[in-house]
Amino acid sequence: GIFHPGLGLALLVFLFLTGVVLPLLSHWLSKLPSIEMIQARSDLNAELVDTVQGMPDLLAFGQAGAQEERLLRLGQALNRCQERLAIIRGLGDGLTALFTGLAGLTVLFLAIPLVNQGALHGVYLALLPLTAIASFEAVQPLSLAFQNLEASRAAAGRLFELIDTPAAVQDPVAPGPQPERFDLELNKLQFRYGEGEPWALEQVSLKVPAGSCTAIVGPSGAGKSSLVNLLLRFWDYQAGEIQLGGRDLREYPLEILRGMFSVVAQNTHLFNGSIQDNLWLADPDASEEQLAAACRQARLEPFIQSLPEGYRTQIGENGLLLSGGERQRLAIARALLKNAPFLILDEATANLDAL
Ligand code: ADP
Repeated sequence: GIFHPGLGLALLVFLFLTGVVLPLLSHWLSKLPSIEMIQARSDLNAELVDTVQGMPDLLAFGQAGAQEERLLRLGQALNRCQERLAIIRGLGDGLTALFTGLAGLTVLFLAIPLVNQGALHGVYLALLPLTAIASFEAVQPLSLAFQNLEASRAAAGRLFELIDTPAAVQDPVAPGPQPERFDLELNKLQFRYGEGEPWALEQVSLKVPAGSCTAIVGPSGAGKSSLVNLLLRFWDYQAGEIQLGGRDLREYPLEILRGMFSVVAQNTHLFNGSIQDNLWLADPDASEEQLAAACRQARLEPFIQSLPEGYRTQIGENGLLLSGGERQRLAIARALLKNAPFLILDEATANLDAL
């Protein structure tokens, strides 16, 4: 512009095309494929995890081939989205290069007559087109950035959806004091997992005095595990009440409440680590003596001693290197080690020998 207004104007037109029109165009074109790509990628990832975790069953039922095809189809869908995005990106890159070159040439052709007329010193003839081309570095990344913006927005949408999900249970606003006695009283408890679903628990009343044992029996689906879910407040009940130590369950902070229960479920989660790591989860300060005592009580000690690495034996993802019974006894040892006021065994002996 300082050299000649016409030069500035010409450069401005090309910068506007590359820095504003192209990014908006690529933004508009890549909107749909970006959203589809994020969805396709998440579908593929979910299916991959499922495949790896379910591999033994897939192989046993001869479904590996069908699953491979399903994965291939998902992979192809993802490829198609990425191809479309790559074409748009290529278009953006190509047009950017075209506009850059055209800007350089236009400035050159506008400057030549100016030099001839003596309005411009000849030494600037090389400098002006090169400066014009160099100025495009500032706007070149914009079209790709606007393409990525859509993909990032779609990905962020999925994250915010998770973050914005309200928790199923809320911590009390003003938590009451710790319980002084440990008894339970259930009064006409009503609970279902969702609006319109059948009641999992209906009019359940029950008293468990401190220091006592209670057995709850019923066929599969009677609601035994649901009762445990309510006591640990993984869910909230719709009607009736549960009192612990004479106070409503919901008055206790979740941390404290869950600390009061040791639970051995049918499928307790064991972590990919050593036996002692899994035990220390229940009580990080437990001495080796205490670990051994808990294992002795769960009838797991002889087994651990027979292992070359003893308590340091790695048990694999979800304890897969142990047998079903060993896993269960490890879960029982862990619950005993936690030594909480309440011990809940939810069909904890299902995988054990009668002995
Ligand atoms: P039990 O432990 O006695 O076998 P459950 O408490 O697991 O019984 O199940 C009671 C009822 O609640 C069943 O009808 C079951 O289908 C239903 N149920 C259990 N868990 C859920 C859940 N997470 N979502 C919806 N329904 C559930």
